[in-house]
Amino acid sequence: MLLGEKQKLVMSKNKSSESVKVVVRCRPLNRKEESIGPSGSIVQMDIRLGQIILRNPRAPPSEPQKTFTFDAVYDANSKQRDLYDESVQPLIDSVLDGFNGTIFAYGQTGTGKTYTMQGAWMDPEKRGVIPNAFDHIFTHISRAQSDRQYLVRASYLEIYLEEVRDLLDPNHGNARALELRENPDSGVYVRDLTSCVCKSIKEIEEVMNVGNQARAVGATDMNEHSSRSHALFLITVECSQPGPDGRKHIRVGRLNLVDLAGSERQAKTGVQGERLKEAAKINLSLSALGNVISALADGRSSHVPYRDSKLTRLLQDSLGGNAKTVMVATLGPSPQHYDETLTTLRYANRAKNIQNQPRVNEDPKDALLREFQKEIARLRAQLHHRKWRSQQKNGETDDDGEEGEEGEEEEVEKEAEEYVKLEEQRLERETEAIRGDQFLLAEEKQTLLGEKERMMGDLRKKQEATEQLTAKYKAMESKLLVGGKNIMDHTNEQQKMLEMKRHEIAEQSRGEREIQQQMMVQDEETLELRETFTSLQQEVEAKTKKLKKLYAKLQCIKAEIQDVNDEHVKSRQELEQTQNELTRELKFKYLIIENFIPPEEKNKIMSRLTFDTEEDQWKFQPLVPAESKSSQMKKRPTSAVGYKRPISQYARVAIAMGPHSRYRAENIMFLELDMTPPNTASLDRSSEAEPNQSHSLDNSPTKERGVRKSRSWCQSPKSLTSSSSNASLASCHTATPMAAQ
Ligand code: ADP
Ligand code: MG
Repeated sequence: MLLGEKQKLVMSKNKSSESVKVVVRCRPLNRKEESIGPSGSIVQMDIRLGQIILRNPRAPPSEPQKTFTFDAVYDANSKQRDLYDESVQPLIDSVLDGFNGTIFAYGQTGTGKTYTMQGAWMDPEKRGVIPNAFDHIFTHISRAQSDRQYLVRASYLEIYLEEVRDLLDPNHGNARALELRENPDSGVYVRDLTSCVCKSIKEIEEVMNVGNQARAVGATDMNEHSSRSHALFLITVECSQPGPDGRKHIRVGRLNLVDLAGSERQAKTGVQGERLKEAAKINLSLSALGNVISALADGRSSHVPYRDSKLTRLLQDSLGGNAKTVMVATLGPSPQHYDETLTTLRYANRAKNIQNQPRVNEDPKDALLREFQKEIARLRAQLHHRKWRSQQKNGETDDDGEEGEEGEEEEVEKEAEEYVKLEEQRLERETEAIRGDQFLLAEEKQTLLGEKERMMGDLRKKQEATEQLTAKYKAMESKLLVGGKNIMDHTNEQQKMLEMKRHEIAEQSRGEREIQQQMMVQDEETLELRETFTSLQQEVEAKTKKLKKLYAKLQCIKAEIQDVNDEHVKSRQELEQTQNELTRELKFKYLIIENFIPPEEKNKIMSRLTFDTEEDQWKFQPLVPAESKSSQMKKRPTSAVGYKRPISQYARVAIAMGPHSRYRAENIMFLELDMTPPNTASLDRSSEAEPNQSHSLDNSPTKERGVRKSRSWCQSPKSLTSSSSNASLASCHTATPMAAQ
């Protein structure tokens, strides 16, 4: 009880700041690993304490095992739902309340990142975090109060070779990379990213499938592309709700669901060339992520290198910013991957110390929901205006404008239809009357009938316009989800109770674990305070015990230092390798520039280069500055009257001079190959054996079209009629004498 209160006190003190939640999940041994040998798992988990113990398979048994504590741990028997209920659900609830939330899966390839994030979404038991979040969000909306309106949008992107690509773009393969932009309101965002408004679980699942397919296509022709790219599924939930001041307030929650690329060392994958470059890029972005985590966890470094990679820029808010974050570190239990498992655990351990400052995003300027509401209000006003006009024409007056909003548009539509029907009947009656009128002249009748016809046409047009307006209005409104209304909730009370109970249990076990962890820490601290010694002997014993304990701890830390050093050496070697690769490439490019590009061209290119700080890369300035385009660019000459195209002074003189030898030149454009067959008949016997062939060569279509040898293009028009381009020149030739004078 006391502890609970204390906890609450701490919580309220640091209300604006909370640490990144880190959970670890270990997958079962797979068949291949089982077949290798019965060495067993190197990972032991204490689920109640949230502790994980790692055994080094190569170390002597005397070496102390490594222990890590996390917010929660999930062993090989854990279900997808366990992880979701305990560790993800609270985060999604926060997103629905208007917080930013991020869940990212980190770990070596094949340890279950995609399984945890996506799972087999068709199998209810194996649905991962993403599909479960869909269910959660839409169920929440279907049970919300009816004065709330929701707008749910989804986007899906991947970062491949440090390029952001839209997975929902229909021509994903050829699309150019997207740019990152920063906005003081919503942080870093991707420009021109497709975002789909989703009205149901089915629709958002469709979005996920489309994106996954775009990713999967890459997997077949790009060799395991899926683990070579980071995938981000983004969901934005906007909720509008009347506040105490009577105005509608909008809260925007953004959820990032991130499946990172495999974190294994490139040396282990045994790749070369392009693949190595790929791996280097992944390693760079992951080590950038590592550096960001270290810098944040350290708390002392003033510079956090978010700008080192696209991934860290996109996750800027999720790490040390305005977001609640859950990191799921995935492990494999196999002894072969001890190093990777240890690295993952270290990474995860560091991430625990990151402090975020989540806050509710209230009434941001760029809320799409607001725009939708405005547009709907505008359409409704238009429809009302029509209704009012039709009533005026009908001679009706409607004073009570106090109708409920619901079903209003249907009423408007119905009334419009009735009005049109009545008008049509009236017009028809009048037409009949005109037809039947015997006193009217035939001409008068015709004009009157024509007029009525025209009125009918107008009426129909009006009706069409109203129908279109209503359709647009309905389409817009259907995109907004009203709490408790738009989606049918088929679950019965019993199921709801069950869900609630499950939620409670998850909540309880989480609380229990937190308390256990705190107790453990406090136990150690209070142990020495409670110690009172009755005799010297007892004191010696106690102190020896303590010494032993501390010594063991010291050994642990020493081993840790050694490990960290080793790891540093390794990653340094890798970075050096990458650096060597890049240097080699740079040298190669320099060589090309020095030897194949003239210095003045090089200078021109260099002077056009500018550094785009927004994009963090070098870019070319346009050849002509946009504002002075008209003044600097020479205008293309318009063709003179009579000429087909602009023509040089020299050519004009040549035309005027006629076939003067000084102005006759060979136009190589008209030089065709001399197709006369080589005169080898007497030497080559095979040509005798195949007389048909030589014959056909003689009658070849080229010959029929007329083989022309070099010919000046300003010859007389008659001889030049064989090709269309010549014909045009010929016409130009005939036109010149007049034009030239
Ligand atoms: P990653 O995305 O990390 O590269 P995957 O999610 O593709 O790895 O998982 C690799 C394989 O391991 C898949 O066949 C997956 O079904 C299986 N797997 C991963 N985690 C689990 C788990 N917790 N329980 C059962 N199978 C798992
Ligand atoms: Mg994967």
